[in-house]
Amino acid sequence: MVARVPVHLRLPSPLVGVPDDRLDRRGVRLLLKRDDLIHPDLPGNKWRKLKYNLVRAAEQGHPRLLTFGGAYSNHIRATAAAGFHFGFDTIGVIRGEEHTPLNLTLEYAVSRGMRLTYLDRSTYRRKHTPEVVDRLRREFGEFYLLPEGGSNELAVRGCAEVPAELAEPYDVICVPVGTGGTLAGIAGGLPAHRRAIGFSVLKGGEFLAGEVEELQRRAFGSPSKNWHIEYGFHFGGYAKRTGELDAFVADWADRHGTPLDRIYVAKMMYGIVALAEAGAFEPGTTVVAVITA
Ligand SMILES: *Cc1c(COP(=O)(O)O)cnc(C)c1O
Repeated sequence: MVARVPVHLRLPSPLVGVPDDRLDRRGVRLLLKRDDLIHPDLPGNKWRKLKYNLVRAAEQGHPRLLTFGGAYSNHIRATAAAGFHFGFDTIGVIRGEEHTPLNLTLEYAVSRGMRLTYLDRSTYRRKHTPEVVDRLRREFGEFYLLPEGGSNELAVRGCAEVPAELAEPYDVICVPVGTGGTLAGIAGGLPAHRRAIGFSVLKGGEFLAGEVEELQRRAFGSPSKNWHIEYGFHFGGYAKRTGELDAFVADWADRHGTPLDRIYVAKMMYGIVALAEAGAFEPGTTVVAVITA
């Protein structure tokens, strides 16, 4: 796959140790896998999830990608950027009504050449049915379809490449969970005797375990048994926040000088610290946290 517009991807992404006395006291070492630094417009797991899909779309001669998302979707943003850099037209099918002026995510997508179209919420729920997809084909012509959030088996295979980039010994790898594609891939790519923990950012995210298993079945033939999901750190649900989470983010910035993404990364990081303080990790454990944004 050749970039049409030059693109520099920082891969492997950096792995950096972060001393934190709350973890040090428990004998836990924390390493950050800085996938947020891969590219400003193609960060983290979004690049990894797109990569093999772009290769497949190019092989199949598709000039156009179509995908689905909410108005604040990082996946919509990344798909628009990928189309711009790798020479695909892109169509973003957005949940709900159009609101103008566009928010920053959608404004960015349009600036990268993405055409936007909107589906009312009830049609959006049926977005992956042949009826709705055929209608979109009649409207936009043939396209390579990326599911909502970009999570399909090729996305899972892209995320499975994270563990091989880790050049230091570790025991546990942690990742925030939206659709579960990233967790499915990372867990599938782990060597023996390592485990993965996903942190659901959704309220009522218990269905996600089934999604992760299904994605692993499709990508690898069977689910791996080396992961679980924590459901207690959603802070009210997707994109919701509380004073406690905000305080954690502010404290993290004081300690480490880096802001945490509130939608995904802060919830995972809060969860890691809470689990460590509750003694969930044996002394001597090294935990890798994947910084997806
Ligand atoms: C999309 C996203 C996730 C969730 O990835 P899934 O594969 O959908 O679980 C995590 N972190 C960030 C920053 C994201 O944009």
